[in-house]
Amino acid sequence: MVTLVTGAAGFIGSAVSRALLARGESVIGLDCFVPYYRLDLKEARAASLEGPGFTLLRQDFADAPGLEAALAPHRIDRIIHLGAQPGVRWSIDHPLDYGRSNLTGHLAMLELARHRQVPMVYASSSSVYGANTRLPFAVEDRADQPISLYAATKKANELMSETYAHLYRLPLTGLRFFTVYGPWGRPDMAVWKFTEACLRGEAVPYNNGGRMRRDFTYIDDIVAGVLACADRPPADDAAPKPGGSVSPHAIYNIGNHRSEDLARLVAVIEQACGKPLRLDPQPMQPGDVPDTYADISAIAKDHGFAPTTPIDVGVPNFVNWYRGWTGV
Ligand code: NAD
Repeated sequence: MVTLVTGAAGFIGSAVSRALLARGESVIGLDCFVPYYRLDLKEARAASLEGPGFTLLRQDFADAPGLEAALAPHRIDRIIHLGAQPGVRWSIDHPLDYGRSNLTGHLAMLELARHRQVPMVYASSSSVYGANTRLPFAVEDRADQPISLYAATKKANELMSETYAHLYRLPLTGLRFFTVYGPWGRPDMAVWKFTEACLRGEAVPYNNGGRMRRDFTYIDDIVAGVLACADRPPADDAAPKPGGSVSPHAIYNIGNHRSEDLARLVAVIEQACGKPLRLDPQPMQPGDVPDTYADISAIAKDHGFAPTTPIDVGVPNFVNWYRGWTGV
């Protein structure tokens, strides 16, 4: 089994690649090392995957002819498409960055899947629910009012995928990830930023006085869910799928199914670091949603997804990794 993993130098893509390699499968990891955050971290993640079964392609997937040329010598059995321009806040000031990777790029990946006739799992986001107040968020809920451009591109990915599943009977699975954290995580996200500030004794922006809740999902739980979905693509049987499609296109929430106060995250980080965290209260930021909370009944039913890692376990794991990697 050869899996093409896009975003393989990214947080989730590197973790999924590592798990596939550990199963003895082959991975073609594709990434163009976008300098959105520190590149030494992306290089280190990619280097950690080196070995038998792993091929790294430094390629922009939004460049369709370049993508085709880079992949021409390779067989692919399936695609796990995790490369994207992420970040709600970045999309407020840099909207054009999202057009290439998330719109043109997603289309190029759908075309690749279509021409190779292989199933694809792709990343969506909990941000598609916008400021939805009905909790927990369920895939049956309408998600038509995104409050950031990032979220709008993720919703667009779901719509584009639906068309390809309908027209070409392409098996596609969209996963709405809920705030993923853990070892090898992302420096632009709260768990990293709070840990870094805590260990350095620096103040960290604390938005909306901490009156926010997030469904923090540990990377190992995410990887288990991604692989379960990749192993069982949706059937083309005309039965309605989660998300409402009658084509072979399923959309799932993938979260921890526990919504935590930011204040509790702070307490767990302080305990793991053994120091108090200095908070710098800030107003709510544009594009941010107040609450996220995943209804995971669909992915639990179809794929046996059952997250097992509370933040009391996952955050200390992250802090240990962070200390080892940064030497702080
Ligand atoms: P990440 O930024 O760590 O990884 C994405 C990778 O994609 C990066 O290494 C980047 O260099 C690469 N990339 C971007 N554009 C590319 C292009 N045009 N060609 C080739 N490579 C390109 O992000 P992540 O946290 O691993 O996120 C993976 C996916 O999950 C993304 O689609 C993201 O939007 C989605 N997501 C993540 C979270 C989360 O909490 N981490 C939450 C919701 C959704």
